[in-house]
Amino acid sequence: MTRVVRTRAELRDALAASPRPYGLVPTMGWLHEGHRALMGRARAENATTVVSIFVNPRQFGDAADLAQYPRNEARDVATCEAEGVDIVFAPPVEEVYPPGFDTVVTVGAIARPLEGAARPGHFDGVATVVAILFNLVGAERAYFGQKDAQQVAVIRRMAIDLATPTEVIACPTIREADGLAMSSRNVHLTPDERRAAPVLRRALLAARSAWEDGERSAEALRARMRIELASEPLASVDYVSVADAASLRELDRVEGPALLSLAVRFGSTRLIDNEALGAPGP
Ligand code: AMP
Repeated sequence: MTRVVRTRAELRDALAASPRPYGLVPTMGWLHEGHRALMGRARAENATTVVSIFVNPRQFGDAADLAQYPRNEARDVATCEAEGVDIVFAPPVEEVYPPGFDTVVTVGAIARPLEGAARPGHFDGVATVVAILFNLVGAERAYFGQKDAQQVAVIRRMAIDLATPTEVIACPTIREADGLAMSSRNVHLTPDERRAAPVLRRALLAARSAWEDGERSAEALRARMRIELASEPLASVDYVSVADAASLRELDRVEGPALLSLAVRFGSTRLIDNEALGAPGP
């Protein structure tokens, strides 16, 4: 039986009655198979699974993007029930950010390029809300998707630096049959855009295959991704990146582990995806 709690006090009481270890899965709702995979892993590795559903206003730069973000709490709670989740924390904004809230967690260099550059303030919002969730839940483990590879790296950095006892665990990206990474934002794609969207995956795999054939010039790999993306007229490129897997700094030559990543717009919908070259990821 899944218990839905909305306040810090209710969460504290529900946790007090629940056995450790706790596994936390932070989400913004509109749950899909990618979220379900995180829940399944949390459930397998912990005695109590906690899912948070909170569309965090602080990580949206654009008010319209926040307003449009898809929501369906009843369906999400049913998904959590089906996955055997013990506690759903679905707070209103003021339970996460109490009156007078005036603290921001800023992660440094790893948060600056890529999504940090494209979406100013985004990772401050992410790191701040995740720090609050980590403190509220006190989980042994928290689960995040590799689909948001830079987010995992930012949260790992924060957890180490702030001496957070929660272990940060990254899980593989779950995809549709045609390769499109599952995302709550996919619901906004028109049928034509949805047909075009697997070009992100094709671009990443084209660059991976060039790398497997021995290409080590990062610019050649970026060009490979751009060529593939250009084949799709509905795709408008935000960035393509070939970065060092640990620092996320852009590379000239790929000599060690690297992260291929890209952000592409289809109309007003912005999608991201990535592919790791050579273990380990960030
Ligand atoms: P979101 O609700 O989009 O904030 O995502 C919540 C968590 O689910 C984050 O850790 C995401 O990285 C993860 N996630 C989202 N989509 C996927 C996916 N397709 N595969 C695996 N994890 C995902």
